[in-house]
Amino acid sequence: MTISDSTSAKPSDPIDIGRVTLMLGELKLPAIKAVWQEIAARADKEGWPAARFLAALAEHEIAERTRRRFERHLDEARLPPGKTLATFDFTAVPMVSKAQVMALAAGDSWLEKGANLILFGPPGGGKSHLSAALGLALIENGWRVLFTRTTDLVQKLQIARSELQLESALAKLDKYHLLILDDFAYVTKDQAETSVLFELIGARYERRSILITANQPFGEWGKIFPDQAMTLAAVDRLVHHATILEMNVESYRRRAAIERRQGPGRPPSRATTKNSS
Ligand code: ADP
Ligand code: MG
Repeated sequence: MTISDSTSAKPSDPIDIGRVTLMLGELKLPAIKAVWQEIAARADKEGWPAARFLAALAEHEIAERTRRRFERHLDEARLPPGKTLATFDFTAVPMVSKAQVMALAAGDSWLEKGANLILFGPPGGGKSHLSAALGLALIENGWRVLFTRTTDLVQKLQIARSELQLESALAKLDKYHLLILDDFAYVTKDQAETSVLFELIGARYERRSILITANQPFGEWGKIFPDQAMTLAAVDRLVHHATILEMNVESYRRRAAIERRQGPGRPPSRATTKNSS
């Protein structure tokens, strides 16, 4: 059967608009279903060739799908709102290269092989902002991300373990190319909390990426986590394929407050507590 056999339509045949709309719904083309009449009217008015009309519809459906996927991924990521790379002041952290961060925001070089990113630095230095901003950029580039405070995820995993569901809970996190664990070394953790965290690291090792922010350098982790051997093993896996960014700067908020007090005239990046006292 040739294509012309399968449709006996003649140009003069009447078109059942309701039926076309029904068929588009059945074909699961909701975006085309919503706009086809409007685009058809325009095509008729402007005398578009049939192929141009079809291309416009297909492009519209694809654009809508991309937008919906982005919104779904943004929703599930639970990013803190308002933190973007555009609003991140790179001059405040001269030791972090903007070019390197922009390369990380593309994702391919590290997320494809399950490599990690670790941001160290004192409170207020922009670790959460930068990691959320990176998360957003990665979602825009089609990756799936989950941002969570480490304590919140630990609580969830512990509940899962008590219900003998830890393995499936860890497996469910596999759908995220990147897991952002904010404040990894913040609270003192007991043995049970530590072990779910380290099982998570083991489960994702060399497969799925983790981004960790921490106020304490590795050297202090032995004091934070109760089990030395377990901590060493986890650190080993984390850093095996990792980029480490040290953000040893003074609190951004504090500096901003000092700059406000000093008024205009001073280059902002110079105004530290030291020269203000
Ligand atoms: P950390 O997680 O390291 O404790 P945050 O990322 O929470 O620090 O930063 C504290 C506040 O200062 C946030 O509101 C953040 O948006 C802002 N901030 C920190 N560093 C920068 C920066 N370099 N550019 C813009 N805003 C920043
Ligand atoms: Mg933080």
